[in-house]
Amino acid sequence: MTFIILLGPPGCGKGTQARTIQKERGIVHLSTGEMLREEVAAESAVGKRAKRIIESGMFVADDLIIELVANRIKKLDSQVGVNLDGFPRTLPQAKALDKFVESNQLRIDKVIEFVADDNAMLKRISGRYSCLTCGEGYHQDFDKPKLAGVCDNCGSTNFQCRTDDTVAITRSRLKDYHLRTEPVITYYSGKDILYKINGMLSLEEVKQQIDKVLGP
Ligand SMILES: [Zn+2]
Repeated sequence: MTFIILLGPPGCGKGTQARTIQKERGIVHLSTGEMLREEVAAESAVGKRAKRIIESGMFVADDLIIELVANRIKKLDSQVGVNLDGFPRTLPQAKALDKFVESNQLRIDKVIEFVADDNAMLKRISGRYSCLTCGEGYHQDFDKPKLAGVCDNCGSTNFQCRTDDTVAITRSRLKDYHLRTEPVITYYSGKDILYKINGMLSLEEVKQQIDKVLGP
């Protein structure tokens, strides 16, 4: 099983790249955020616990997240690869993941860090907006509709902009990333499985760097 991890600040585009990797290489993209939402919707045991924690406004604890990830990986065919997007987020999560990996005769092959500038990430996120009718996403600098003010997808002229709230939330997530996730990066760097790529380039250029890291 190919086992890779993508780490990077919010807004760096790692989710998009993870979906491309899945499409081209069959390496399954696991996003802990999506997995949590699925478990909550399915009302599984983990989902019910997570729902209580989320509703009480607390962070979902490391042990619950690791249980979620471990259960999902165990269900996968051993032939396919797995790509963790945004996990581990903290050093205790990274150490717990190592324990799981070792006890299941797996191995983390490569950790790819998207290196990006905070201000650029803020600009990217605050420029995003979407169609109110169909949900199609746009960006005021990087991804405008072909005809100004008209949705490419459905022709609607109603859009929803990101609010100041989004910027404030992003700021706090960036701070959280530096505080909690940077130790994870140092941890993997010490294991010699860390690859840094420039997350500030275009989607295609970032993809090329990832292809170089992953090989043919
Ligand atoms: Zn639309």
